[in-house]
Amino acid sequence: MSLQGKVAIVTGGNSGIGRAIVPRPLGSRQMGNEPHVVILGAGFAGVAAMKMLRKAPVRVTVINKNDYQAFQPLLYQVATDVLSANEIGFPVRQMLHGHRAWAFHQAAVTGIDLGKRQVTVEGMEPISYDYLVIALGAVVNYFGTKGAEEHAFPLYTLADAERLKTHVLEGLETVDKNPALIDDGALRFCVVGGGPTGVEVAGAMAELLDTELKQDYPNLPLDKAEIHLYVLTWENPHPAKTVTTITFAKADGDSVAAPFCVAITAEPNK
Ligand SMILES: Cc1cc2nc3c(=O)[nH]c(=O)nc-3n(C[C@H](O)[C@H](O)[C@H](O)COP(=O)(O)OP(=O)(O)OC[C@H]3O[C@@H](n4cnc5c(N)ncnc54)[C@H](O)[C@@H]3O)c2cc1C
Repeated sequence: MSLQGKVAIVTGGNSGIGRAIVPRPLGSRQMGNEPHVVILGAGFAGVAAMKMLRKAPVRVTVINKNDYQAFQPLLYQVATDVLSANEIGFPVRQMLHGHRAWAFHQAAVTGIDLGKRQVTVEGMEPISYDYLVIALGAVVNYFGTKGAEEHAFPLYTLADAERLKTHVLEGLETVDKNPALIDDGALRFCVVGGGPTGVEVAGAMAELLDTELKQDYPNLPLDKAEIHLYVLTWENPHPAKTVTTITFAKADGDSVAAPFCVAITAEPNK
């Protein structure tokens, strides 16, 4: 986390955000002429900033691509059909209830002009700020793995989770119509990334196959399903070389057919 003049770049999780965005003393400013704080992003960090500023004598504008905050730790539950999207998405406008001087815009931020102290936003006039909180989260990092971006399924947004769920369910429908595909690996799932999320996804997928899907697809031999979890280790620093729609190369050079491939890694959202 860093502070540059009146700009705070914050990340979510346990980042201690409160320390970074406490506004400067307001001196002689009167109510009605409060400094304008613009918060970019309404994820963990953006929402934490909103909470910290609740009682501060400032005017706040929040800008977020979606009109909800997605609770990322439960994305895997949406992807595996345990929860619905609206159970892990919290409306940002509702968070602003009771703050008459605060505003929210559902829009994509396209640029920041530090000199002019303005933010450019899709479909709107530029927005001026006195203080800027940048809390735009992270994007997936494929670490140069060839084919991953085109063929793997990242798990970072609600849309990602829905897309993954649909892909899995559509895949099962296809196998149900043509069980011969099982021999080609049609029931093989690859999860790339063995951090908490990768392990959770793999575990939830196993549970899903063993419970709900077993009942939904009684004629499919789901006990033949395989879940491969790819973990980066010191001995194996390059676990993923190539991802295509049906082939995922293992660290030892062998490849397995895998129509279901989830990639879980991140880098800051620039
Ligand atoms: C699958 C998964 C599971 C996780 N599990 C855990 C866990 O169990 N425990 C834990 O502590 N952490 C977990 N994390 C990490 C945690 O969710 C993140 O650290 C946290 O969400 C980061 O908060 P943030 O506010 O920095 O970013 P985000 O929560 O990603 O928020 C960024 C916001 O900015 C918006 N945005 C981005 N670009 C733009 C733009 N150009 N214009 C407008 N808006 C934009 C996004 O829509 C989003 O609402 C998990 C993350 C993932 C992906």
